[in-house]
Amino acid sequence: MRVISFIALGIVAAASVPAEARDWLVHNPGEYEAAAKRVVPGDRILLADGEWKDFQIRLTGQGRSDAPIRLAAQTPGRVVLTGASNLKLSGRHLEVSGLIFRDGHSPDDSVVAFRTSSKAWAEDSRVTGIVIDGFNQPDRRKEDHWVAIYGRGNRVDQSHFEGKANAGAMLVVIRQAGMPLDNRARIDHNYFGPRPPLGSNGGETIRIGTSTESGSDSGTVVEDNLFERCDGEVEIVSVKSGGNIVRRNLFLESQGSLVLRHGSGNVIEDNVFLGRGVAHSGGIRVINERQLIRNNYLEGLAGTSFTSAIAVMNGVPNSPVNRYMPVRDVVIEDNTIVDVARITIGAGADAERSQPPRDVRFAGNLLSGAKGSDPVRIEADASGVTFAGNVLAGAKSAVAGIDARAVPMERAANGLLYPRDRTLAVGVRRDLRPVTREEVGVRWYARPARRTVAFDSGATIDVRAGATLGEAVARAAPGDALRLAAGRYTVVQPIVIDRPLTLRATPGTATIGMGGALFQLEEGGSLMLDGVAIDGSGAPAGSTVIRASTRPMLGNYRVRIAHSRIADVPGDVIATTPATLAATIEIEDADFQRVAGTVVAAHAETGSAGLYSAEQVAIADSRFDRVGTVADLFRGGTDESTFGPRFAMTGSSVTDSGAVVLSGVQTAALRGNQFTRSAGVQVTHSVGAPDTRIEGNRFAATPAPEVRELHYRGAPRAVLQDNVMETCL
Ligand code: CA
Repeated sequence: MRVISFIALGIVAAASVPAEARDWLVHNPGEYEAAAKRVVPGDRILLADGEWKDFQIRLTGQGRSDAPIRLAAQTPGRVVLTGASNLKLSGRHLEVSGLIFRDGHSPDDSVVAFRTSSKAWAEDSRVTGIVIDGFNQPDRRKEDHWVAIYGRGNRVDQSHFEGKANAGAMLVVIRQAGMPLDNRARIDHNYFGPRPPLGSNGGETIRIGTSTESGSDSGTVVEDNLFERCDGEVEIVSVKSGGNIVRRNLFLESQGSLVLRHGSGNVIEDNVFLGRGVAHSGGIRVINERQLIRNNYLEGLAGTSFTSAIAVMNGVPNSPVNRYMPVRDVVIEDNTIVDVARITIGAGADAERSQPPRDVRFAGNLLSGAKGSDPVRIEADASGVTFAGNVLAGAKSAVAGIDARAVPMERAANGLLYPRDRTLAVGVRRDLRPVTREEVGVRWYARPARRTVAFDSGATIDVRAGATLGEAVARAAPGDALRLAAGRYTVVQPIVIDRPLTLRATPGTATIGMGGALFQLEEGGSLMLDGVAIDGSGAPAGSTVIRASTRPMLGNYRVRIAHSRIADVPGDVIATTPATLAATIEIEDADFQRVAGTVVAAHAETGSAGLYSAEQVAIADSRFDRVGTVADLFRGGTDESTFGPRFAMTGSSVTDSGAVVLSGVQTAALRGNQFTRSAGVQVTHSVGAPDTRIEGNRFAATPAPEVRELHYRGAPRAVLQDNVMETCL
């Protein structure tokens, strides 16, 4: 029978230790430490319900497989660790459950670590049913891991991880000299909730090992997890070791891929990827040897190139361990890969990645491309790939071993597509069952718990002419729209925007006069201007219309300017800042006249670490007249870990103005624009496989577009077509 000690630790200490397991209910760190010293196998320490602020939990001990030492919440979900808190465990047969980490951050490099020092780690221990929600370092550039699994035989299951906004993987299996390399970790039934783009490398959701130790097997199993909108970077799961199994996971609307980055002999099976057309939703990227990719279901994936539904990479001959080992002895069979943008063989082929895949068997797969296209692209010598018994539905194929024909399909009870003809034995098994939302995470925490507040999702509030705009903004709730009456509004102090808000007017009726910097975004802020006129003629030099915070921001912000007229600005219109990231900057049907600075100044990150300031910038149907610079986007560094920055400009005119400057931008499309007496378009490619298209533009008394390669050896990789050059007017 279980004894409840409602402590009085003194009394407990004086008593003889009872033979039966006991519960130690503790109310503060002092009581916890006293109990932690006394627990014996089978005992349970219960943290009393409530908030535990600045509590760094250390749990060490030797439990037994039939009698672990446990640490739990008095009531699961009612114990919240806040402030400078974390958890470290070492020993054997330990189990932690029921805790929430929220409203704070770890004082060191992990929130949960399966070790207490470099020499003391945990084995055969388990963390189950915990929540880590937005428990981020205040500066997004500072790296930590939410869960760091060291040791051997450890398990993380039935837990909920959501909203990591600073650098570093959500969960990592750390393998280093002096510690067990045969980790045999098990990561199962977890909910990996939305992770927004980080804006640099280090936004993985799971990473297993690093390149240094990737020649050995980790033996980790990742199974039955749900990954939802895990958009941190190009790698959702980064396998950097051998002998792992990744199976029965569901990847939902996530940007990025499951990447077999380093290590060999991994098994990837029975996973379901549902991209639902989300940009850059990817599948499985294959590098190295002896990988088995079997019975996976991939549907609606929009990714191309490295992020293709299946991307078999080209390798580097005699590759250093941290580059790209050639692909050899790989089997890709019985997968269903339907309604996808791309399947790429020989992805990344270039002067360095010159070794094509060898001894690859691609067989028994059911394929179809988005909109009836042929998704298969062969980008290198594919003679080392055997195609056999594959069926491509609804398109022609040039590849022998891919049988193209009409394949009527139907959605089965498991939600997945199968050929109506049950005798057609290609693609995944009929009994594949995607893991459900109810089976992952904990029952007492919503999956997901956080939602982005959309513009115009709240109330509309009328603002009378001449009102103090800052006061109206301060009273508005997230998602509200302020509707400005006709008239002039003069703003002297910058208006702080710390929630998503819209300022709206009937175009041509309401003007905001700048007395200085106008809008200042702070944590949680996003701003839409719709139909508003802004007059900067009364503002001192350098004044900006919209500026991101001067302090680090964790939430990615959004800016949208539509149907608006912005004139006589003595500084930038939209100014990004270091340690902040714009998720989107959208400009539609807007006029910019006489702007001394830059309309979209997204070059606040200047280093070579691969950080950048805006994920996506889109300009449509707008007019720029006498502006210093139209847009300036910068991303330094050479790593290939991000989808951004992305830039699009269509249907716009630029007159007597500076350039569109794009450096390190991954995707750029400029179509149907008119440049007159301006500096034109200057593109610098630094890395990866940039996709630059400059098509159907008119350049009058404006230099031709300039595309430069910093590292790539070869002609600049850009599509320039149907542009019209006019030397004189
Ligand atoms: Ca990465």
